[in-house]
Order: sequence, then structure tokens, then C-alpha cells
Amino acid sequence: MRSERQARDEVIELSKVSTRFGDHVVHSQIDLQVRRSEILALIGGSGSGKSTLLREMILLQRPDSGSIRVLGVDLENITDDAAHELCQRWGVMFQHGGLFGSLTVKENVGLPLREHSRLDDRLIDEIAAWKLAITGLKPEVGAQYPAELSGGMIKRASLARALALDPELLFLDEPTAGLDPDSAGGVDQLVRKLRDLLGLTIVMITHDLDLLWQVADRVVVLGEGKVQGIGSMSELSHMDHPAIRMFFDGPRGRAAQEQEEHLAAAQRS
Ligand code: ADP
Ligand code: MG
Repeated sequence: MRSERQARDEVIELSKVSTRFGDHVVHSQIDLQVRRSEILALIGGSGSGKSTLLREMILLQRPDSGSIRVLGVDLENITDDAAHELCQRWGVMFQHGGLFGSLTVKENVGLPLREHSRLDDRLIDEIAAWKLAITGLKPEVGAQYPAELSGGMIKRASLARALALDPELLFLDEPTAGLDPDSAGGVDQLVRKLRDLLGLTIVMITHDLDLLWQVADRVVVLGEGKVQGIGSMSELSHMDHPAIRMFFDGPRGRAAQEQEEHLAAAQRS
């Protein structure tokens, strides 16, 4: 029997989730829990169903069977009104940012507030400026257009927009993809800072070894329709499954692991 406390601590609960496209089975009876205030990463080969699973958690897609509960709400048979309300409790950052090119950065960040609140323009502007500040952007960036920004700044602005409605949950699809190592490093730390500062629960898809080793609390390996492993990177690094080994035995994986062991040894001594 689950305790009350456990139930409260599980912000997302997937039970026996199966997804097919025609004959192609993408998820086969997946069980997964996301705990409050953790940073959970989804990894797995291309086509392993990471994006589909994320889309199912945010009501953009439905599984063929199984149940998904988010923030205590069962997504199956959810009414339109309840869905509308629930969607405001999470923020999403898609891989390519999805900012509107014809709006300034500040207008982009204020957009969810314009759509979902009755706040006046001045207040919306102030909130947008604050969101930009917590993602590490200078105030003057607010007046710029997305095309004028670097890749790292675009990611930060998209994060600011995802945070516009003070969500409890944040979903990130490849938050550092396409960034040079310097900007990627900044975004890594930002993800953790946002969790610490705002108490967010974060689910992210990423291949970025720094994000995985330095930022994720737990990592879920998807493969062959199943969860092949789940744990911290250091726990996973000791598991034997081929889908898991793939991430550790490539040259980048080995380098990251050595770096981690080195760090751990330095901390012990
Ligand atoms: P990942 O994000 O892990 O690369 P996806 O979740 O995007 O994988 O896709 C998993 C599998 O499902 C892939 O084989 C993909 O081609 C297939 N797929 C995803 N969306 C659709 C769709 N709307 N229609 C048909 N097949 C799809
Ligand atoms: Mg994907």
C-alpha cells in the first residue's frame, strides 16, 4: 500500500503506458514516477520514444493504454476546462525554442500572461523583466528580437517564457542542443539554479553528458519500448544492459565518467 506521503511526492505517475503507431510499438507497459523537485532526465537512442513520452505527459498526445497522472490529475478523460487549468501549472521548452520572431523577447515572455491572466500590460512587462532576470538575461535583451540573439540567449529566453506562469513543473526537450560548450555550460547550471530557487520539478530529454552527470538527479534509459534502467548516472554506469552501455562506452561517455571519478576522488581526499 502506498503511503500518503509517497503519493504526494510523486508529481508524475505513469502506469502501464503503451503507445503504438500502427504496428510499431513505441512504449510497452511503461511504469515511471517523477518525484517532487527532482531533475529527471530521459535518455535512449533515437526513436526510443523519449519525445512521445514527454508529449504524453503534457497532453499533446495520448497513449494507447495505461494511465498518466500529473500533479494528481488523471489525464485520461480529463475535461477541457481541467486540461486548460492543468496546462498552466507546467512550462515547456521545446528543442527549437519556439519564440515568435515577430515579437520582442519581452513580448514573447509576456505572451502566456496575456493569454491566461487579466493582468494589465505594465504588470505583465514587469513580470517578464523579472523572468528574464532569473534566467540570466540583461534587461536590454527584452527589447530585442529573437533573430538578434545567440543560441544560448534564445534558450534562456525560451526558459523565461516557460516560467511566465510560475509553473510547478518544467519540461525541457534538449535544452543544450546546438549550443557551443560555453553557452551549454551556462544553461546546465541555470537548470539546476531554477530548480533550487523555484522548487521546480524538471523532466528533460538530453544527450548532454554534463547535464546528465552534473545536473540530473535520476536518469531514465528508454529502449525497446521499456525503461531499461533508472538511477543516478553513477548507478547507471555500473549496469550491464546494452542500451545503457551505449551511453558509457562511447569515447565521450568514457571521458565524462573518468572526469566524474576524478572529481569524486578529489572530494574524498
Ligand atoms: P525519440 O524522441 O526518442 O527520438 P520519438 O518519441 O520521437 O523518439 O519517436 C518514437 C518512434 O515513434 C519513432 O520510431 C517515430 O518514428 C515514431 N513516431 C513518433 N511520432 C509519430 C507519429 N505521429 N506517427 C507515426 N510515428 C511516430
Ligand atoms: Mg525526440
